Amino acid sequence: MERFDVLVVGGGPGGYVAAIRAAQLGKKTALVEKYSTLGGTCLNVGCIPSKALLDSSEHYHQAQHQFAEHGIGVGELSLNFPQMIARKAAVVEQTTAGIDFLMKKNGITRLEGFGSFVDAHTVRVTPAEGAATDVAADHIIIATGSKPAALPFAQPDKDRIITSTEALSLKERPNSMLVIGGGVIGLELGSVYARLGTEVHVVEYLDAIIPTMDRGLGKELMRSMKKLGVKFHLQYGVQSVTSNGDSVHVVAKDKKGADVEWTVDYCLVAVGRRPYTDGLNLEAAGLSTDERGRIPVDANLRTSIPHIYAIGDVVRGAMLAHKAEEEGVAAAETIAGEHPHIDYNLIPGVVYTWPEVAGVGATEEQLKADGVPYRAGSFPFKASGRARASMDTDGFIKVLAHAESDEILGVHMIGPRAADLIAEAVVAMEFRATAEDISRMSHAHPTFTEAIKEAALAATGDRALHV
Ligand code: FAD
Ligand code: NAD
Repeated sequence: MERFDVLVVGGGPGGYVAAIRAAQLGKKTALVEKYSTLGGTCLNVGCIPSKALLDSSEHYHQAQHQFAEHGIGVGELSLNFPQMIARKAAVVEQTTAGIDFLMKKNGITRLEGFGSFVDAHTVRVTPAEGAATDVAADHIIIATGSKPAALPFAQPDKDRIITSTEALSLKERPNSMLVIGGGVIGLELGSVYARLGTEVHVVEYLDAIIPTMDRGLGKELMRSMKKLGVKFHLQYGVQSVTSNGDSVHVVAKDKKGADVEWTVDYCLVAVGRRPYTDGLNLEAAGLSTDERGRIPVDANLRTSIPHIYAIGDVVRGAMLAHKAEEEGVAAAETIAGEHPHIDYNLIPGVVYTWPEVAGVGATEEQLKADGVPYRAGSFPFKASGRARASMDTDGFIKVLAHAESDEILGVHMIGPRAADLIAEAVVAMEFRATAEDISRMSHAHPTFTEAIKEAALAATGDRALHV
């Protein structure tokens, strides 16, 4: 039986990054992945394909609604939806091929097949065809990720009642779509189709969209997405979802308890994801999952069996690719005897709608609940010259600073390129900067980043210059 220093199960952003870091640190490393392509949810059916469609649909939307104002005529605009999906598929193919290259470059043994524990040091790898092989390892990193969560009354049939995976590869542009869940997936994919002309309904159980982010962001995003034509139904409880093969019938109760019904082409179920450990045979390794299906780990990502680690969507914390990557690096470095540390408070969250939404650190709601004295400073993009030039005036940036020390405790933004702008806030907070530190740094003019400086000025005592 071949033996490795480190065996990683799962080739998503958590697993493949862990394998690269372990190999960099001189460990004989193998990576087990059941699919023929690496990259996991993120590269195959998540981050990358959704952003490809978000970019394509935004171009279409701009051509339809903004080009004329820029003085650009494009004749009769048309949509080649199969081409849009084909371009997305090509982006995915190039990106996953890049991971194959990285595995080879780092001398990582790639084992294609489904991994399941035989005992705490041995994993059986069963390929789709052919015989299974057992491999042994001194250290094992579980990175098996997550799958879409289902509702008992809305089981995806993957035809008309779909998850994000099918929504990324539809054959035709739907005329109508109902999305259950006003979270990240619902709003990103809802935006894609609304921009392409689909009538999109978002049904959310709670009284806010993106409810875990700073509350002001969801309100502003809802305003922008309503302009796109998206219809929001908050505090609605879906009762039943049935498909006849051509359309889907959805029944929900509104907040007063009255029945509301829709008949739509597709129903996208986007109510969260569940950790995936099916068939992994954790018991054989002496492991079990918690009440939410996650593998319990300590601060060093170690499970209850000291030489087995778990990372990414299959453990506690945000289900984000960059969080999985940080954990992959940390697990590999811990195995190699190093002492890495992850500050989970500084992992940014981003929603790639337009305007984009991003946040890091404490929300205003959390600071209030914890009784932390703070000052908030905001700056609206409509006061930004750069935003006016690009016609992206929706949104604002909010800086939350400690009322006494002025240390930045949270930064929350909705606006153009917020997904990239948030990096400045992460750097500032990583170095425990104050709002005044940011407000005294030169920010190039005209850029969207000036809005961060202005919000920091506002947080240090109403000193914003351009509002
Ligand atoms: P995964 O990426 O799920 O990878 C797990 C891998 O393990 C899979 O390839 C699976 O096949 C394999 N596997 C599982 N069990 C076994 C087994 N027993 N044997 C062998 N292989 C196995 N996050 C962001 O940060 N930014 C985004 O923009 C973003 N967009 C998203 C859009 C969508 C539509 C979705 C669904 C998710 C998105 N995410 C995004 C979340 C992101 O995809 C996940 O957080 C990330 O992929 C988690 O990485 P992971 O390595 O833990 O697991
Ligand atoms: P989510 O947790 O972001 O949102 C789910 C939403 O569904 C919540 O608002 C919740 O209140 C609502 N909901 C739950 N049950 C409901 C019901 N019965 N009826 C109506 N609404 C209901 O989950 P998601 O959007 O499915 O995304 C899954 C994960 O994937 C997220 O954790 C996210 O981190 C990750 N993801 C990240 C990105 C990104 O980083 N840009 C993009 C897509 C997905």
